[in-house]
Amino acid sequence: MSAIPESPPRSWAEVDLSGIRHNLAIARKLSGQGIMAVVKASAYGHGLEAVAGALEQEEITFFGVANVGEARRLSEAGVQTPIYLLGGTFPSEREEVIAHHWLPCLNTMEEARHFDQLARHGGTVVEAHLTVDTGMGRGGFLPSDAPAALEAIRSLPGIRISGLGSHLPSADEDPAFTRSQFDQFDNLVESLPRRKELKHIHLANSAGLLGYQSRTTTLARPGLLLYGVSPLREHEADLRNVMSLKSRIALIRDLPSGHGISYGRTFVTTRPTKVGTIGIGYGDGYPRTLPDHTPEVFVRGRRVPLLGRVTMDQVMADLSDCPDCCPGDEVELFGPNIPVQEVARKAGTIAWELFTGITPRVERVYSG
Ligand SMILES: *Cc1c(COP(=O)(O)O)cnc(C)c1O
Repeated sequence: MSAIPESPPRSWAEVDLSGIRHNLAIARKLSGQGIMAVVKASAYGHGLEAVAGALEQEEITFFGVANVGEARRLSEAGVQTPIYLLGGTFPSEREEVIAHHWLPCLNTMEEARHFDQLARHGGTVVEAHLTVDTGMGRGGFLPSDAPAALEAIRSLPGIRISGLGSHLPSADEDPAFTRSQFDQFDNLVESLPRRKELKHIHLANSAGLLGYQSRTTTLARPGLLLYGVSPLREHEADLRNVMSLKSRIALIRDLPSGHGISYGRTFVTTRPTKVGTIGIGYGDGYPRTLPDHTPEVFVRGRRVPLLGRVTMDQVMADLSDCPDCCPGDEVELFGPNIPVQEVARKAGTIAWELFTGITPRVERVYSG
């Protein structure tokens, strides 16, 4: 009996892991610092284990994850690079944090006292960083409270503070504010006693790394940049594309003039039109907020416009100017020919959300 052929994926994301390593080298060169590679949200949708595996031999100082669930996945994958928790922890998670030597950031005295108590109870010392809120408003000690908090936590025998971090809310939008934030952060760090014990000082995300200089930081925390997108448009040409979202033409049909296309019939043909149906939709994370007609996809070496609304599993494209297109042809939704930034802008969102919104139905296919 012959094997029944497996159906090819309707949509898939090609991920070039060597592109991530290339972008890491750029981040390293531009910042001149150590790197905390931000791999939260499944490495921005690229696949947590695969991306961490690709960076494991690259002398990354930390992998930055959002929460304990992601830290657990990295540990279970056998990752040896130290794991840093970018967000606060729930009380019930803290024993696990200590047991696995993940590095928590401390945002409150309650958190610090609880970690201290758990660590001492287990006969160990937990290494942690202090988070300072210089403007993000999401967590951490206010700069005015940070020196006293640091001293208080240093007096707890179950905790060793080895670093200090803060975060930038608008490094890609507000240079004046961001410059003042860098100043405030550097002044604070320079004012702290026993500064040498703070081995890891970090502030910059991708935009911060590209656009600003600090007198005190030792680490940069790039995320988006590693995945090939510059939030500042600077150095865009130096970065390599990492993810290409792809699908195939499923059907090609000739429709007459005056025929509606997709839900709501927001697009009606004004001429006989060759319409291709492509096997991807918002159920794959291709955004439904894309406006009619302006988004383009790439097929057989050209851009063609989409027609009508994005549906859950399919979109329609105008193939009238693509006489050689056939069912089965590969279509790029974003990638080297259609920048993800362009799709994000048209959809009224940002590249970060587009990447992290690509759903599990989209198979990730790795190279490099
Ligand atoms: C997500 C995140 C980053 C990475 O931000 P990018 O803009 O993607 O480079 C850095 N630091 C913290 C605290 C974050 O939450």
